[in-house]
Amino acid sequence: MPVTPDLTQPKPMLIGGEWVRTTDATFESINPATGALNFRICAADDSLVDHAVGSAWAAVRNPVWRDQLPHQRAAMLRRIADGIDASAEKMARLQMLENGKVWAECKAQVASASATFRYFAAVCETVSGEVTPSRGNYLSMTKYEPYGVVAAITPWNSPMTMEAQKVAPALAAGNAVILKPSEVTSSTALELGRIALEAGLAPGILNVLTGLGTTVGKRLVEHPGVRMVSFTGGTATGRVIAHIAAEKLIPVALELGGKSPHVVFADADQEAAIDGVIGGIFEGSGQSCVAGSRLYVQKSIAQSFVEKLVSRASRLRIALPDSQGAQMGPIATFAHRSRIEAMVDSARAEGCEVLLGGHRPDHESLAAGAYYLPTILAGLKPDARVVREEIFGPVLCVLEFEDEDDLVQQANDSVYGLAAGIWTADYKRAWRVASRLEAGTVWINTYKQLSISSSFGGFKESGIGREKGVSGLRLYQQAKSIYFGM
Ligand code: NAD
Repeated sequence: MPVTPDLTQPKPMLIGGEWVRTTDATFESINPATGALNFRICAADDSLVDHAVGSAWAAVRNPVWRDQLPHQRAAMLRRIADGIDASAEKMARLQMLENGKVWAECKAQVASASATFRYFAAVCETVSGEVTPSRGNYLSMTKYEPYGVVAAITPWNSPMTMEAQKVAPALAAGNAVILKPSEVTSSTALELGRIALEAGLAPGILNVLTGLGTTVGKRLVEHPGVRMVSFTGGTATGRVIAHIAAEKLIPVALELGGKSPHVVFADADQEAAIDGVIGGIFEGSGQSCVAGSRLYVQKSIAQSFVEKLVSRASRLRIALPDSQGAQMGPIATFAHRSRIEAMVDSARAEGCEVLLGGHRPDHESLAAGAYYLPTILAGLKPDARVVREEIFGPVLCVLEFEDEDDLVQQANDSVYGLAAGIWTADYKRAWRVASRLEAGTVWINTYKQLSISSSFGGFKESGIGREKGVSGLRLYQQAKSIYFGM
């Protein structure tokens, strides 16, 4: 279904089941593929944050929601999943307009969002509490209860996936949610709000507050009525949120940045490894938290492997995101492209070799958008800025290693620990190295394979807590132990 932007009216936000407009406070959504204005969106102020928290508490205490049994909440989640599927074309197009991801990836992310709601519906009605071993004449049990009102704050790179990953388990756990999407990608969250309302979710159980992170997001985290925060975004923002949560003594789940090592041993299937490395860094124009942005190649094959890699990557099709066969679209914002350019300039200043890209595409059809070519850098020192800091763009840093010990030392020499990839024919070595790498996810002879039933999260400064899997539901619950005297 084509989405015709309505530029006459700013998009309202969803609070307490009502669509709420602000008159003067709005912000713009810009299409990064063309530079055109998509929409204007209403920005919440402090009073609307208060209103959303108040509405959420009223809704979560209302017996209509509070007394729902797990199988009834599960049925609601399945209805939301059906609604997402019914709006798949529209949701995918909205995401494409806002963050410029290619059409096939946008479609896949809608499918992943509805599957996430179905998965947590299944978890919700099958996971049980515990009857615990008694140490006397009593029956003791542990049950799991919602926190009440949860804030979910999401980034722009994969908004539908992240929003489903937070909203579905938080609702399954019995909470009310205030969702604050990135100001770059507000539209899919607003659609999710509409779908949930139409599916019959009680008003106020899912609120969508739009606006800037530094104002609305911060105020939401600080709000005394918010009992838990689930955040996905940059490490610097995560640290600010963790400080506020520490003051309030509330739990936080933080999914943060990464600088993931992607390792190729000399005995690897090189053709498969090249595909894995290219997909790992250039899919989504590198705007993925798990992007394999540090490539470590064993010295004995480094030269020939990198030559083949550069040749294959140079054939990637960078194009308008809805054009046939596009493999890379634009960077999500013009400001973010400028940051990527500054990072590559810093590498040049540090004496790196640019093996591929390193600039914007020349093609006239892309001149108005925020495009940046797939870029491969070599000759880098381990302390170069591009090796240490997350770029979140299509920039791959090539490094070499001698043996397992050298590799593990270099790969772990990072403040991040989100993911890692290993290519080798030796499964014993794969297991040894996977066990030594400091990362929340390790892929062996594959990359970026993600399943909703496996837990996901970061070591070190890549985060706290684990989303997905059964642990993804427990994140939004607190344990209560009850004793019956016998
Ligand atoms: P960001 O940290 O700038 O923003 C994320 C969200 O936080 C947005 O909704 C923003 O409005 C809000 N925000 C900003 N400042 C805030 C504040 N002071 N208080 C409360 N909320 C605030 O991140 P981004 O640029 O949108 O996303 C890119 C980052 O997200 C990258 O670092 C990437 O690695 C990370 N990311 C991590 C994962 C993961 O699962 N680990 C997944 C996707 C993206």
